[in-house]
Amino acid sequence: MPESSVIDTPMSADTLPSRLLDAIEVQRQQLSDPMAAFFYDLSALSDHARRLKHGLPEGVELYYAIKANSEAPILETLAPIVDGFELSSGGEIARACGCSHPRPWVLSGPGKLDSDMRQAIDNGIEAFHIESLGEIARLQEIARDRGRQQAVLLRINPSLPDTLSSRLQMAGAPTPFGIDETDLAEAVEAVDNASHLQLVGFHIHAMSHQKEVARHQQLIGYYLSRWPEWRALAREPDALVQLNVGGGIGVDYSCRQQFDWSALCSWLDGQLRAMHNPPRLRFEIGRFISAFCGYYVIEVLDRKFSHGEGFLVCRGGTHQFRLPAAQSHDHPLIHLPQAVDETAGNAGEPESWTIVGQLCTPKDVLSRDQQLWDVAVGDLLVLPLAGAYGYNISHADFLCHPRPEQHFIQGACSPETGSPEAGSQERKAVSEPDERNEPSDTQRATSIGESATTA
Ligand SMILES: *Cc1c(COP(=O)(O)O)cnc(C)c1O
Repeated sequence: MPESSVIDTPMSADTLPSRLLDAIEVQRQQLSDPMAAFFYDLSALSDHARRLKHGLPEGVELYYAIKANSEAPILETLAPIVDGFELSSGGEIARACGCSHPRPWVLSGPGKLDSDMRQAIDNGIEAFHIESLGEIARLQEIARDRGRQQAVLLRINPSLPDTLSSRLQMAGAPTPFGIDETDLAEAVEAVDNASHLQLVGFHIHAMSHQKEVARHQQLIGYYLSRWPEWRALAREPDALVQLNVGGGIGVDYSCRQQFDWSALCSWLDGQLRAMHNPPRLRFEIGRFISAFCGYYVIEVLDRKFSHGEGFLVCRGGTHQFRLPAAQSHDHPLIHLPQAVDETAGNAGEPESWTIVGQLCTPKDVLSRDQQLWDVAVGDLLVLPLAGAYGYNISHADFLCHPRPEQHFIQGACSPETGSPEAGSQERKAVSEPDERNEPSDTQRATSIGESATTA
């Protein structure tokens, strides 16, 4: 039975993990300038990923789509838990192959270079996700040159019924991704005719930001209903065993209700049991795995009022954390007062603030309309849910500000509850990596307390 997958997002300072608060304090004492840094709680990451993995029905696989966050300590933490990695570039291949715990991996994405495909084959790729007819021909040539029989999945851009197609960004509509269902027979035939390619199944990644279990069930249910027909297009249908249903599980950045993973898993279990000859199902999830472990912590540099609106100007900004701008949302945040004298705390009415960074553009807004009490210059604001598509999608060189530091917290966690244990061990929140997770030299550069610029 899946464990409960209810996800609590910290909404106030007293619900932040103590190992995080300790790590922030340790780092702050070492800084001469105000703070803007990322903190990643690796034990929370591993607890969460284990819960996702253990919730799945028997035989259903969980891959991590590393584009959500491919920092070495994140991959090192996830590698022993997930079944594999989903990659989309030569650079990501290098990261996955640099991991001390090698896992199977697949390569997706439009615009694969020939050099990416060669690098993938030479480094032992499990399967390619083919995005176009042209890619089939190129990969056949490369596989033949290398004398390799290569497993491939065809990525389908399905023709979805109207009830499902609304709000899908990546399928059921014109996109550069995958092969239209109307061209699928031709693509299957091309792979069947390619001497060095072996079709093992289909791949569909149709959606991101899916927050409703019922809608995701409809989508996967639709794929499962189509599976027998898609499979029957192949010369040897029995050789097609795998259906990769992509990622796209959303995160509720308003923190009201997170996706009910265990509900999806129980439903899926029932569906697969009811099927005569079910495919081997695989998820490749990014955001919903890594988002919850990350925090962007910024210091208030200035408080000001302009035409009736209050602004907190903070160290950092959207050049380091582009997510709220990219998603057009107001990012949740937690106020961490730093003043020693807190006697005035939470008295009276909160004030409404717009939280901005250091960039000379009006678009540099992290959050609007935040009700906060007694914010002072020097206080910290903690932005949770920053572990996926945060720093790595940001235009960090804009205005030549220094890049933010990234800290990876290794603190111990009690296995039952996933909550931090009290005690002195927690004090070394930004600790030396333990022996089990000893990072290699390249990983060390990005891991403990060093600037990402040195990585
Ligand atoms: C980005 C991506 C994913 C992961 O998406 P999330 O929304 O982060 O889960 C999975 N598969 C493919 C092909 C992708 O492009």
